[in-house]
Amino acid sequence: MAVTAILWTGAQNDKLYLQSGQFTSTLKTSQSIGAIDNAPQGIAWDGTNTLWAGFTNTRLYLTSGQFTSTIKTSESVAAIANGPTGISWDGANTLWPGATITSRKLYLQSGQFTSTLKDSQRVTIFEFGPNGISWDGVNTPWSGGSFDKLYLQSGKFTSTLKTSQSIQAIDTSLSDISWNGTDTLWCGLTGQKLYLQSGQFTSTLKTSEGIVAIDTSVTGIDTNDFNSRITVSMNSNMGLSLTGCGIEVTPSTAALLSRVSDTTIQIFQDGIDALISQLGKSIKLVYLPTIIECPNCINDTIGNKPANRFRPGPMRFSDGKRCPYCRGTQKTEQENSEIIQGLIQVKPRDYKRYGISVQDPGGLVSVKTFMSDVIKIERTTHAIIDIQKQSIIKIKCRKVGEPIPTGLRHSRYAVSFWQRM
Ligand SMILES: [Zn+2]
Repeated sequence: MAVTAILWTGAQNDKLYLQSGQFTSTLKTSQSIGAIDNAPQGIAWDGTNTLWAGFTNTRLYLTSGQFTSTIKTSESVAAIANGPTGISWDGANTLWPGATITSRKLYLQSGQFTSTLKDSQRVTIFEFGPNGISWDGVNTPWSGGSFDKLYLQSGKFTSTLKTSQSIQAIDTSLSDISWNGTDTLWCGLTGQKLYLQSGQFTSTLKTSEGIVAIDTSVTGIDTNDFNSRITVSMNSNMGLSLTGCGIEVTPSTAALLSRVSDTTIQIFQDGIDALISQLGKSIKLVYLPTIIECPNCINDTIGNKPANRFRPGPMRFSDGKRCPYCRGTQKTEQENSEIIQGLIQVKPRDYKRYGISVQDPGGLVSVKTFMSDVIKIERTTHAIIDIQKQSIIKIKCRKVGEPIPTGLRHSRYAVSFWQRM
């Protein structure tokens, strides 16, 4: 199926709109939601129901179909952040941005909807007004109104911004973003239009459609083709996740996989989850140390010179001499680390497929972990990896490149590459 209609929200009339094609002027239907929340700020289609964000009540809403008046459920996010200013759906979780001073973050809320917040990512380094979000199966496209830019954040979410594109030459009030598998859809309040911009992102504007005759305040946009949104950009990624499990991927298996059912994907995920927790090895992620006072000496003054005095601590020395523990610096480093589980491959043969290039592939180790560990991996200075089950051989490694999201339909896992130090 291709995109045959566009869903959008209008805050002038407080309605959800379904517009034919991509784009035509034919309005297929609309649904008033003003009695529920009079500031719709974003919309997403999950294949069956319509998700939308309500700013007035700080709630995520699920409206049955496309559209009925039935609100299936809603969830307040007021305890997390002000907003929401947009919404998207990845097949398992709800993505939304918050946009007030304390909440300029992208949020990942479990299900449709639960109160479990799985992840959040501060974006104030790039943008002060995140106001729209989408999910392409691999990365998170989002939009920001303070600089009127389209952003592509790696994964769901990492701190890596892959690219961004200003659209200020076209519209000076960007309000939401979506993705159809090939092109980026966005909407703008100045031009009161829906826009189709080539790729992710180029400056080529393919088409646009004015909606001013319908509603003068377009605040959200999505396509009616959930699968194209999340699977097309994933096909290239699909091979990666399977090779990570030792399965050879040919073009025909890739084609077959694009039709894999949700149940099969669940079975696959359960299998990989079990592999990671049962066969996974311990990986100690080591972060920047905390500088603390030396436990062995006290800073004292002897004559006019600062000197060390035995605290007492583990390494005895005479007062006034240099403390052997801290070598006279009076400071010492306290290690910060934590242990995660991952599937290890020593000397992985498929590293080139992941875009990794190294001088010494013999010293490479690949680690498959849960996507939720990526944020930790990115912070490491190095890692101590067990390469045998009984933790007999441990190797110290530094990270090569950034973790790469993998997974059949949702980026549930990530592969990272490490080089022996
Ligand atoms: Zn000391």
